[in-house]
Amino acid sequence: MSDRLIRAIAADGGIRAVGTVTTTLTEEARVRHKLSYVATAALGQAMSSGLLLASNMKQQQSRVTIRIKGEGPLGGIFVDAGVDGTVRGYVEHPKVELPPNSQGDLDVKSAVGRYGYLHVMRDVGYGQPYYSTVELISGEVGSDVANYLATSEQTPSALLVGVFVDSEGVNASGGILLQILPKAVRDEALIELLESRVNKLSGFTRLLLSGKSLSEILEELLGDLGLIIFPQPKRVRFNCRCSFQRVLGALKLLGEAELQDMIEKDSGAEATCEFCGEVYQASSEELEGLIEDLRSQSV
Ligand SMILES: [Zn+2]
Repeated sequence: MSDRLIRAIAADGGIRAVGTVTTTLTEEARVRHKLSYVATAALGQAMSSGLLLASNMKQQQSRVTIRIKGEGPLGGIFVDAGVDGTVRGYVEHPKVELPPNSQGDLDVKSAVGRYGYLHVMRDVGYGQPYYSTVELISGEVGSDVANYLATSEQTPSALLVGVFVDSEGVNASGGILLQILPKAVRDEALIELLESRVNKLSGFTRLLLSGKSLSEILEELLGDLGLIIFPQPKRVRFNCRCSFQRVLGALKLLGEAELQDMIEKDSGAEATCEFCGEVYQASSEELEGLIEDLRSQSV
């Protein structure tokens, strides 16, 4: 199944459901950043979470940034996801590997760490972005993001994200977000029902791996609650907004002396985009061009 995101409602609009498959884009992130298994799982889960969080924003240019900083060996995890279906991200220490946990699964929890913070920024593309920070409650990306939604955005939510990766690469990655909408937020029975359904669906990525589609999984979860799946799934993909022009712009900010030094010592400059791992090379001539620009601006 190609990477996609689908949206649905159930219980007369009391429940909002979003599902995403991110297998290909997580594989792209793994290759770009040369991620270990556990780093692939952590970043894949965070990227799925970012796309699911962005899915309820209205303006096409809106973006969500997630920063997870636990005390575990992975260091920080950074994700930037848009309503347009693009996402990019990286982890601070991509090569960290840990032995599997007692269930034989990748130990994302220990890699992220139990103590730390989750920062979320929602940016609609104009005005002040909305920032919020919550403490980590588990180190599991899905439950920490769900806790953020429940406490900071006052939306009772269940979020399941998962990644299957082995020596062949990423076999399955994706997530599902179920939320109680404001009109039903006091409906205790509905909240309980949702929780019990989600607890039954512990193996979301296993279902994906077995070839089940997102619609089939949502059907299993909410089929008896008047599920309506919106047509036209959205395509999601790994995409970074970096470019050679932006790199030149950043180099220019270093100023003439620093640029001159790079020309003399390194015969050019190399810059790596931390979000996507792309390496950009600027030649001495290009750096000289920047110096000329700076001089003509200062006249
Ligand atoms: Zn980039």
